[in-house]
Amino acid sequence: MGEFCGTEPLVGEILGLRTFRIDDSGTLLPLYSDGAWYDGVNTAVCSPPTGSHHRGPHRVPADDCECGFYAYGSVDAAVQNRQTRYVQAVVSCWGDVVAGTKGVRAAHARVDALWMSPAAPSWLRARVSTRYPSARLYADAGAMLAEHPLTELDCYERPRPRRVGPVVAAVVGIAALLGLGLLPFEMLQGSTALWTAWLLVTGAVAAGTGWLMVGTHGAGHFAAAFVMAGVLAWLLAPVFGITGWVLRVPLLRGIAVAVGGYLLALRPHYFPVVRAARERAFCGVRA
Ligand SMILES: [Zn+2]
Repeated sequence: MGEFCGTEPLVGEILGLRTFRIDDSGTLLPLYSDGAWYDGVNTAVCSPPTGSHHRGPHRVPADDCECGFYAYGSVDAAVQNRQTRYVQAVVSCWGDVVAGTKGVRAAHARVDALWMSPAAPSWLRARVSTRYPSARLYADAGAMLAEHPLTELDCYERPRPRRVGPVVAAVVGIAALLGLGLLPFEMLQGSTALWTAWLLVTGAVAAGTGWLMVGTHGAGHFAAAFVMAGVLAWLLAPVFGITGWVLRVPLLRGIAVAVGGYLLALRPHYFPVVRAARERAFCGVRA
């Protein structure tokens, strides 16, 4: 059973919890696509941005595809997503619905109730309430959930607490990888262990970058290919001595942007607002 698939299609309305990005026009957007949600009934279509794309026409959502409107089945599952500290919405899901251990994906969905953190600017609240007149706005997330209780399904599992081990291993691995790209070339060549490690890692990253470039089908793949290319440039930098710093610029810039964004979000009274796109295609992908 997957997080959002595995059960037979369900019948009837299911209430789930999810989060949104909000743009400066007051439009609710999914985290991973620009497919705006509208007031009232939304109907999902299939064109997943990442992952396995079920080719050919099929019902939405399909068990072997990633399409459909997503909603978490419980508060515990939902709050693992950082964006829920800013926006939470209770949504009704119906039509074809598949459920997994974390939540559901559905063909149709509607925003019933919406909570925004107190940090949300009042002009944004006003725009959201104008755009979504049938959604009830709440100042208190607890009150919202008390009046719109989430549907409990047997397939939902309590999220396990995050384990520290894999996170530490990932941090050590990334630090070692970045360290290899900082060593002088003579030092890499001077040690059999370092040289072997550098060749293996660089070869693996080059292969991964090539595979991502060739296999790029969506925004997620493209972003991953971009990051991998930056890592590859970083690893190749020692070959070019002092001029190798040019190759380190893309990754350094990426790290600076990521750290800056993280620090920005720590500011008190911070609320993220997305700049509105001029034209936004309606689609219900990973929506
Ligand atoms: Zn699909």
